[in-house]
Amino acid sequence: MYTMPESSECAGDIFDCIQRGNIEQCVELIQNDRSILKEKGWGGFTPLHSAALHGNRSLVESLLSNGADPNLVSEAGQTSFHFACRQGNIYIMHQMMQHGADLRLVDLQGKTSLHHAVLGGSIVAMHYLWETGMFRYSDSDMYHLTSLHMAASTSNTEVVRYLLRHQRCAVDALDQEGATALHVAADHGGVEVCWTLLQRTGYRMLHWKNHHGLTPLDLSKLGKTFRHQQLTKLLRLYINEPMHHTPKESHVLYYWTLLYPTLSASVILIIAALGGGYGGLLCGLLFPWLASSIFTAFHRMTTYQRLPNPIYLGTLFAGLFHTLLCFYGQIMLSMWSTGLLVQFSMFHFALVLGLLCKILTQDPGALGRAESDPRFTCIADLVEKNEKPQRFCPYCEIFQPDHSKHCKLCDVCVADYDHHCLFLNRCVGRDNHRLFLVFLISLVTAHLLFLVTATSYLNGKKAAGYHGATSSWSSWLPFLGAEFWVATLAVMNALTLLWEAWLLKEQFEAVVAGTTTFFRQDEATGRRRSLGQRWAAVLSFLLEGRDGLVRRQAPTDQTALVI
Ligand SMILES: [Zn+2]
Ligand SMILES: [Zn+2]
Repeated sequence: MYTMPESSECAGDIFDCIQRGNIEQCVELIQNDRSILKEKGWGGFTPLHSAALHGNRSLVESLLSNGADPNLVSEAGQTSFHFACRQGNIYIMHQMMQHGADLRLVDLQGKTSLHHAVLGGSIVAMHYLWETGMFRYSDSDMYHLTSLHMAASTSNTEVVRYLLRHQRCAVDALDQEGATALHVAADHGGVEVCWTLLQRTGYRMLHWKNHHGLTPLDLSKLGKTFRHQQLTKLLRLYINEPMHHTPKESHVLYYWTLLYPTLSASVILIIAALGGGYGGLLCGLLFPWLASSIFTAFHRMTTYQRLPNPIYLGTLFAGLFHTLLCFYGQIMLSMWSTGLLVQFSMFHFALVLGLLCKILTQDPGALGRAESDPRFTCIADLVEKNEKPQRFCPYCEIFQPDHSKHCKLCDVCVADYDHHCLFLNRCVGRDNHRLFLVFLISLVTAHLLFLVTATSYLNGKKAAGYHGATSSWSSWLPFLGAEFWVATLAVMNALTLLWEAWLLKEQFEAVVAGTTTFFRQDEATGRRRSLGQRWAAVLSFLLEGRDGLVRRQAPTDQTALVI
């Protein structure tokens, strides 16, 4: 029978203090009675277990330096180091290792520290443990569950992808029930994990039965959640496919989605044309509906596929296509006398399309292994230099140089990351930031050109007595109804122009501050500059890129330092 320790009152106090994160009070309690460091509370947790569970680095440091033992076990045989691994805090793990944590200890289920890191879902903690050379990803617990089985049970796709990379884990390993990781994922309704595993093994794995004679599909059918229903539908389709085939990304759906905004807008404009005098009203109702269906779309094609959703890029194409069609098919037809305008507009629109092609094909500055930050060679370097764990990209497995960030949609680390542009379906970074700004300025010019000519066209039509000669407000409604094509495109171009003006302002502020919009922290640098200096900085960036900007800013900053 479990008996409460003698100093349980005092120990109760220390657990409360740890929960509140009150370090001074904890230290005071320990100094009054050091034996409380060995006291066990609920589940056999020591104060160090509790501090590790809360991820409180300072508190762990303080407990360890006062003599707390990182190898004491809870009722389930777990050490506080196991807890730190599950929390994924590499700093706490490092502190415990320095204070003698025994990495060989396993809990009562035979789970190693690596297994606890896998269950916690921290790739950086897993990588750190692997670097010690004391763990193998293929190690299993007493139920023969491998790291891959455990990752599948948490439905953590990123950990599964990490474990499958470089053949860290055997994808077909069986547990003591004869279940593969796919059985475990299906049992938990992990649609994305099942998709990832099947991409690796092909459909053959769907036909494997565990010791109870159940396939992954049978296990999915037993589940009651929406995710199980979604998975069952998917696996039913796949089970009839040839065994050596793998699930493919839906490229047909991708291109349909890409064309959807252009086609939908065309259908709406045709309906409006058939609506006669109600054309304007129909556009006023249907275009907001189309916009809401586009802007509420997910960023990926489906919950499990990796392809980014191209609907925003499709919207950009739709905007360009319909604006050009309206400009040359309606406005210019009645304004051919302005030959210079036609020539300029054709040249400018060709420039916009050329820039679009270039930006859609140019690498934004994706970082390869060779560009990993040379200051770090392993996770221990990060810990020793007190760097953020996020420096290690768990997807590319490189140490990110300053001002880099991983984009999950593009699945690359990007140097001088600015943002992922949904409308271009790619990142803006070191190698295309200047191009992006030039493209944005060219778009603003194109919008202005369209708006000026469209307004002039509408005014001309109205003045010519088109559809009613009076100037009262009531005469505008039927007029705009009849001229819905130009009027609708003018409204949409005006709204886009406002948004682009805000975007340009944000971009210019970042350029003046010598950074990108994502990393813009030191805005004061930009504010100290005069208007002339700010424009000079923007021009320098547009003409020479970031190198030119750095050269230009360096002497100014040096002078400021001397003063
Ligand atoms: Zn990355
Ligand atoms: Zn991206």
